[in-house]
Amino acid sequence: MSPAPHLRQVAVLGATGSIGASALDVIARHPQRMRASVLAAGCKVDALLRLCVEHRPDHAVIADPAGYAALRDGLREAGLTTVAHAGDAALEALAAGPACDTVVAAIVGAAGLGSTLAAARAGKRLLLANKESLVLAGELVIAAARSSGAEIVPIDSEHSAVFQCLRSCRAEGVRRIVLTASGGPFRGWDRARLAAVTPAQAVAHPKWSMGPKISVDSATLMNKGLEVIEAHHLFGLPADRIGVMVHPQSLVHALVEYVDGSTLAQLGLPDMRTALAVGLGWPERVDSGVAGLDLLAQGRLDFEAPDLDAFPCLRLAGEAMAAGGTAPAVLNAANEEAVSAFLQGRIGFLDIPALVEDALAALPAAPAGSLQALLAADADARRLTRQRIDAMPHAGTTPA
Ligand code: NAD
Ligand code: MG
Repeated sequence: MSPAPHLRQVAVLGATGSIGASALDVIARHPQRMRASVLAAGCKVDALLRLCVEHRPDHAVIADPAGYAALRDGLREAGLTTVAHAGDAALEALAAGPACDTVVAAIVGAAGLGSTLAAARAGKRLLLANKESLVLAGELVIAAARSSGAEIVPIDSEHSAVFQCLRSCRAEGVRRIVLTASGGPFRGWDRARLAAVTPAQAVAHPKWSMGPKISVDSATLMNKGLEVIEAHHLFGLPADRIGVMVHPQSLVHALVEYVDGSTLAQLGLPDMRTALAVGLGWPERVDSGVAGLDLLAQGRLDFEAPDLDAFPCLRLAGEAMAAGGTAPAVLNAANEEAVSAFLQGRIGFLDIPALVEDALAALPAAPAGSLQALLAADADARRLTRQRIDAMPHAGTTPA
């Protein structure tokens, strides 16, 4: 008889979000192999409680300390033995502690950096969806994983695709990688049309169902810019060996070109459960609930170059990456503040790249040797961007 397989203990951070839901869906398909042992969310106590009833984790964490009593009482009333925790320190301690061997880092934004770093330092298998932590502090996260032996498996679909394609030979054989982009809901639009875009239009992504922040990032193409920086850290390639190609069908997720002229691509339906199943099962392949790809039914695959005039965020991300140091942290923080203001109807769509460009110009790149330097750059960029937003003539008007 073969020994019982190791039961993977998974912490799902950002459990109430879109990636969290996909992760829990895959985990629940494999009760003999894995379970959700820790669930964490930002501030939605009711949604977290519902997930605890369904998945019966050992620990539940609400990042917002004001949610602690409601979480503790709700768990007790539901008759669960799940232990309640609150705050960032508890989140980081659980990500690093013995309650899990695998961490799904699916918190949105720079808020995910602390727990991503904690898991990387503690040597966990790290299923990394939180791309902002790599944009903000990629060198530190990768160095922490390297010294602890943490195994990072990317969850971003393009990076999961590269991860899978790279398994065919040694990294020295790679000439370049190409990330695909759907082009978002406004592909082909010019700046005049983009000026009037509303938050509802921007979050209605044509191919992927995602949280509001990444949906807006996809509409501005900032998402692809963040992903180029993410790929640079994950795969150790310079910017001139990372390409971007618009592919509206979102079936080819990335390509890896080798020095011998061979190109490998990874294809699949646009459903994040595939990437999560790769991370949870690796090196084995496990069922994700996603159907196979029927290319005859899909019809055609199109590819085009991105329009950097209409969508300057991709260019700005490239410039921040080239400047290095604190510049990517400034880019990311200004973008988070601008996207949040756009979603609240306080600024227009084209104000997002304008604010990011402003922040990069006002806060020139400085060396980023420490976490403190990066967090200070993040804070400076947020302060500056908020001030600019408050000073804008239409800020504070009714939501679009
Ligand atoms: P989402 O908005 O649907 O969910 C975000 C989650 O983070 C929620 O559970 C929320 O409670 C939690 N959260 C927010 N602020 C927090 C805080 N301060 N502390 C602790 N938890 C907090 O977002 P999403 O679409 O699931 O994206 C999550 C991450 O995955 C992002 O970094 C995104 O770029 C990345 N990603 C998402 C997709 C996708 O298909 N949704 C694809 C690739 C990468
Ligand atoms: Mg992606």
